[in-house]
Amino acid sequence: MFTLEVLKKSGLGMKSVCLRGRQALSVLNVRTQHTHAQHGNTQASFRPETSTAKTLMDIGTRRIFSEEHDLFRQSVRRFFQEEVVPYHSQWEKAGEVSRDVWEKAGQQGLLGVFTPEEHGGIGGDLLSAAVVWEEQMYCNCSGPGFSLHSEIVMPYISHYGTKRQIDRYIPHMTAGKCIGAIAMTEPGAGSDIQGVKTYARKDGSDWILNGNKVFISNGWMSDLVVVVAVTNRDAKTAAHGISLFLVENGTQGFHKGRKLEKIGLKAQDTAELFFEDVRLPADALLGQVNKGFYYLMNELPQERLIIAVMAIASCEFMFEETRNYVTQRKAFGKTISHLQTVQHKLAELKTEICVGRAFIDSCLQLHAEKRLDSSTASMAKCWASDLQNKVASQCLQLHGGWGYMWEYPIAKAFVDSRIQPIYGGTNEIMKELIARSIVGPN
Ligand SMILES: Cc1cc2nc3c(=O)[nH]c(=O)nc-3n(C[C@H](O)[C@H](O)[C@H](O)COP(=O)(O)OP(=O)(O)OC[C@H]3O[C@@H](n4cnc5c(N)ncnc54)[C@H](O)[C@@H]3O)c2cc1C
Repeated sequence: MFTLEVLKKSGLGMKSVCLRGRQALSVLNVRTQHTHAQHGNTQASFRPETSTAKTLMDIGTRRIFSEEHDLFRQSVRRFFQEEVVPYHSQWEKAGEVSRDVWEKAGQQGLLGVFTPEEHGGIGGDLLSAAVVWEEQMYCNCSGPGFSLHSEIVMPYISHYGTKRQIDRYIPHMTAGKCIGAIAMTEPGAGSDIQGVKTYARKDGSDWILNGNKVFISNGWMSDLVVVVAVTNRDAKTAAHGISLFLVENGTQGFHKGRKLEKIGLKAQDTAELFFEDVRLPADALLGQVNKGFYYLMNELPQERLIIAVMAIASCEFMFEETRNYVTQRKAFGKTISHLQTVQHKLAELKTEICVGRAFIDSCLQLHAEKRLDSSTASMAKCWASDLQNKVASQCLQLHGGWGYMWEYPIAKAFVDSRIQPIYGGTNEIMKELIARSIVGPN
């Protein structure tokens, strides 16, 4: 067990190994720690920032992280290299990853990192969760939907669930035995979440759910889906009549449609979901009735931050791939890195990535202190995902024709980038939210 071994040897920050059933989960004791920077610890000044590091993916950089995070990062990096990279191309063909990789990630303590230990999560801090998001981008393998499962779906249960719901789902989700998804989008309602038509009506103490969802990440493999549904069609606004439900795979009337064929994220299972007279017990309701829209608004900033963090990490990966390529590729008798136009392009890209990194690290710190507001999270998502697409396009260009070949990692990074300005709220919607904070609602 990489995580476990590394942390044991280090003796740094390793709190305990907590056994849940037969699962040994390593627990990083960084929850109660503050970053060096927060303490004004001079050690922080010895950590290079991305701009001065040897490579943009170096371990031991950035003042927001500590040595404990570095050790965790080493083990996470090794996990992705050994358990994800070798299998990814076969998962791309299958359109889904293996169940095995979910359970292995669970055994390594890489799922539910930021979910409190008392709820059955790992109980690490936000920055440890960010290490997992970043390392997935550094290995250029978009298949496993770990971040969505761990830091988008699990928080709904942890924050709004009853004790029974938390006990029933969170430990299995942390172990990778219960894969989570969230179903908001419908064929006729994406940006306009208030326009959803999926409807749950009361029947005694039960609910009867009807409707269909589309584009649901982890949808095909999901064991548990948080479903957004209308529960009051007569509410004063649509936002006041929406609730969340926990729907388990195998519930009668819940069907999964096809795995959707996408231009990128080839190994990630994105699916349609259908609900036909699905009878749900009263305790399938998550949180309070008609409060669903409020819960979504509360949780979406974290989703947007994750997209932003993954976007900048992907930029860093693409930059390093390209730096390697141009220092090896020869044209006109010398490597293309000798061409001034190529050097200037790399200089521009590195500058923009490092500027972006500074803002996103600041957003991470703000969120760790519970101070990241919706508008700032929207700026982060919008700006970082646009930058990712710019970097993808320009790095691919520097690869010439080889950049267009699937066997080159930049080709995969390029197609995977394209979704980032679309999901989690399109970048046009992000601008609406940012504008509202500038001039107020229309
Ligand atoms: C690979 C993938 C994974 C996804 N995963 C999930 C998931 O796990 N769960 C989930 O619920 N959804 C998921 N989605 C859905 C995603 O969040 C939506 O596609 C996205 O919110 C946009 O909605 P839409 O596709 O209906 O586009 P539309 O809302 O129809 O938008 C079309 C265009 O109109 C623009 N537009 C719409 N309204 C406005 C406005 N008010 N002002 C300016 N421009 C506007 C949009 O920006 C966009 O350019 C996923 C989508 C994809 C492709």
